[in-house]
Amino acid sequence: MDFSLKMYSEICRALEPYRVVTVKQYLSQDIEPPLVIMRHDVDKDLDCALAVAELEYRMGINSTYYFRYPRTFDLVTMSKISRWGHEIGYHYEVMDKAGGNIQKALDIFRQELDIFRRYFPVSTVCRHGNPLTKWDGKEIWEHCDFKDFDLEGEAYLSLADVSVYLTDTGRNWCGSRNIKDFLGSGSSVSIKKTPELIAFLQNMGADRIYLNCHPERWAPGLWGWVKSLLRDKTLNLGKFLINQCHRPKPPSFPGGDTRRKN
Ligand SMILES: [Zn+2]
Repeated sequence: MDFSLKMYSEICRALEPYRVVTVKQYLSQDIEPPLVIMRHDVDKDLDCALAVAELEYRMGINSTYYFRYPRTFDLVTMSKISRWGHEIGYHYEVMDKAGGNIQKALDIFRQELDIFRRYFPVSTVCRHGNPLTKWDGKEIWEHCDFKDFDLEGEAYLSLADVSVYLTDTGRNWCGSRNIKDFLGSGSSVSIKKTPELIAFLQNMGADRIYLNCHPERWAPGLWGWVKSLLRDKTLNLGKFLINQCHRPKPPSFPGGDTRRKN
């Protein structure tokens, strides 16, 4: 079954020829390719985050887990994941919370980052992309610098030099049903299903690969898989409807419709 924890373990197995690194390691160390940067946005389900983090720990992989505040900010879960050697980061959504007001967004960012740092040494952050809002959280960086917050970087803006960015957003790897989860300059490859991704990794399709896997999409057990499938189907329908509403209108004809009617 695609998008199951078992399939995720197959991805991890395919990573053997690569050095798998956290976002912080990638930004702060000079690591020789081939490498894979592994990132997890913990948007919803803490049990799935624990399951994915433990699996990676058992397979000798370290990755980065970004938590939302307060939605997935859970000290017990985060402490366990940190003890397994993973990086803990802040998954910010401050433009949404501030209704697009930059100054307010920056204030919230500082307050929430401070809360994270009472418990974990946060060096990198990653914006959360809510398809229902019109703001892009990365806009705050047009008004300030990572250094103002003593950060090494941001998970989208600081990794523009990767060869390929692949995300499971939309329950596929090719970007369909994906509204905000794009890296920008990272070139995309035509991969839809996870076995294709595994083949791409095994064939060393690129030497600097950036993977984003949402833990709730890789739930353990049959019931977890069914729940995740139903949630993604509903989400994808919502995104389809959003896309329909925002489709560019066909060009209008100046001076009224002068097309000849047959
Ligand atoms: Zn997110």
